[in-house]
Amino acid sequence: MRRVKIRREEYEFAVIGGGMSGLCTAVAAARHGVKTVLIHNRSVLGGNASSEIRMHICGADENGHKPDLTEGGILHEILLKNKCRNDSFSYALWDLTLYEIVKAEPNLTVHFNTTMIDCAVEDERIVSVTCFQTTTEFTIEVKANIFADCTGNATLGYFAGAEYREGSESRSEFNEPHAPEFANNERMGNTILFKALKRDKPVPYTPPAFARKFTEEQLKYRTHSKYHTVDASSASDPKAFIRASTGSTTAVDYGYWWIELMGEGEDFVGQYETVKDDLLACVYGIWDHLKNGGEHGADDYELDWVGMLPGMRESRRLVGDYILNENDIFDNRFFEDAVAYGGWPVDVHCANGLLDFHILPSEVYAFKGAYTIPWRCYYSKNIQNLVMAGRNISTSRLGLGSTRIMGTCSVGGQAVGTAVSLMKKYGCLPRDIGLHIKELQQILLRDDGFIPNICNEDPYDLAAQANVTASSFKAGFEPENTVNGISRALDGCENAWHSDGILESGEWLTFDLGEKKQVSQMQLTFDSGFAYPIKITLSDNRRRQQRIGIPPEIAKDFTIELLSNGKTVFTKNVNGNMQRLCRVCFEPTVCDAIKIVFHCTNGCKDIRVFEVRAYA
Ligand SMILES: Cc1cc2nc3c(=O)[nH]c(=O)nc-3n(C[C@H](O)[C@H](O)[C@H](O)COP(=O)(O)OP(=O)(O)OC[C@H]3O[C@@H](n4cnc5c(N)ncnc54)[C@H](O)[C@@H]3O)c2cc1C
Repeated sequence: MRRVKIRREEYEFAVIGGGMSGLCTAVAAARHGVKTVLIHNRSVLGGNASSEIRMHICGADENGHKPDLTEGGILHEILLKNKCRNDSFSYALWDLTLYEIVKAEPNLTVHFNTTMIDCAVEDERIVSVTCFQTTTEFTIEVKANIFADCTGNATLGYFAGAEYREGSESRSEFNEPHAPEFANNERMGNTILFKALKRDKPVPYTPPAFARKFTEEQLKYRTHSKYHTVDASSASDPKAFIRASTGSTTAVDYGYWWIELMGEGEDFVGQYETVKDDLLACVYGIWDHLKNGGEHGADDYELDWVGMLPGMRESRRLVGDYILNENDIFDNRFFEDAVAYGGWPVDVHCANGLLDFHILPSEVYAFKGAYTIPWRCYYSKNIQNLVMAGRNISTSRLGLGSTRIMGTCSVGGQAVGTAVSLMKKYGCLPRDIGLHIKELQQILLRDDGFIPNICNEDPYDLAAQANVTASSFKAGFEPENTVNGISRALDGCENAWHSDGILESGEWLTFDLGEKKQVSQMQLTFDSGFAYPIKITLSDNRRRQQRIGIPPEIAKDFTIELLSNGKTVFTKNVNGNMQRLCRVCFEPTVCDAIKIVFHCTNGCKDIRVFEVRAYA
């Protein structure tokens, strides 16, 4: 007799895919009270950033070139949480951090090792998805009101019949400066990374029989050791603000994003396993070249880890009500319905990846500042209850060249998850969120999001109108900055209060509310040192850029005092804070002033606060 184990579950929101975008989508929705399920086909979270693939998370700050654009919100919280416990860049601890983040949410159910394999669609709406959990033999049928496609490949949208695109648009479609004259099916490829460790003596290496052979001539456009660097300037396009990229690393401990293959034919996704076999032949072949193919400084190095799950850069892009394109990016375009932003260059790779031996592997079109991403890029044009986050949002191929970066995917995910809570509140569909954009933008800012040109105008923030004073301050870092609506340094303005050192009795900020008000929640946004990277990375070069431990700027211990007629009516101590956004909830208390006394930081000599908010 045939046997099938089936479980049926119902949620308000189902997120498919637990990469950084899916994770942020699911956590944001759950935190805002939406009963959410995350369906993830791997045992660890993070997608390309996971311990299985180990790509480090970059963002709008463009590896420190634009530090003010660093992503805040859930992503920053995760990275700080990891940083506090994981100065040794352990991927086991990174797995733990991501696991902890989802497990802390009572409204969130996560099904690991569970692949979404099918969906049911009625009247242009997804009714349910069918999933299979390999570890338990269960087929799980999940019903939900809203579904998010965070699969990277737009698998759910593809199955559901959503409109999608692959390959490049023709120049005539959006007039993008770097689009080809005619549309084509070029795509960026998949990559397997490796990590090597330096030993104290030479370590021999015998490649597996399937490894491919590479010559120095074939790798002449790819920097692969300090003995083999490529001068990209000669190949750069003088007409554009372009940096041709050769693979930046001269180190041999970590390689190489340019070991990249695309497969052949039309079906990008269907090629995955074939491409994986070819990639393994290339990775072990490149390592053979480094070890046995002449001087590369790799004699004492030994392979410590090689991925077995290629990271994928590009496949389908779901079409929304707007398609973000290269001009929007270069123009720093601000959309009225902006919910996310990016700053990474338009970074597109050569058509045949590693096999294009005669050219540089990538061209990077950098630009100043940031662009915004409108809400209309985050929901499907034709499937009414489908939202998306990650690399499969609605962009042109050149738009994807910038939006695909995981910091940008994460802030998009946070926006999507938060928007779903408004869909629940108003009983509406994704497209209707256009009517509630201001509310969405303000919630995102309150949750430490950033949207260029949008300031805190939250009518419920009691601190916003308060008269602010401080124990001391440095010039340019006045206490009023904590309520000026911007919670990061921006455009040359510091937007922060810095005490003039730390008094033994404690530096303080006071907020005179002008009249009696009930307060039950305070939130403080501290400086967390955006100029210093905190991501987990395999690269020794990138690791050396980081500081050890918790960012010292973050205030560690402080006391919140609520006052009425000059008398303290309530105090709350906060000890051991290590987050940029610190929310403190307490029993509702009527007061006319709030005093925050800071006792110490995580190492810095002054107190640095970007924003203080108070809520009833
Ligand atoms: C080699 C390489 C280098 C890169 N370099 C960088 C870099 O330096 N910094 C950076 O920020 N970005 C980099 N990128 C780009 C970035 O990694 C991707 O654009 C990003 O991961 C996309 O995020 P995502 O959440 O959309 O997809 P993913 O990270 O791919 O996550 C999607 C998740 O969904 C799961 N999933 C898929 N289908 C299903 C299904 N049917 N059911 C259940 N689960 C499913 C997948 O297992 C996966 O874990 C690089 C990419 C590659 C490949």
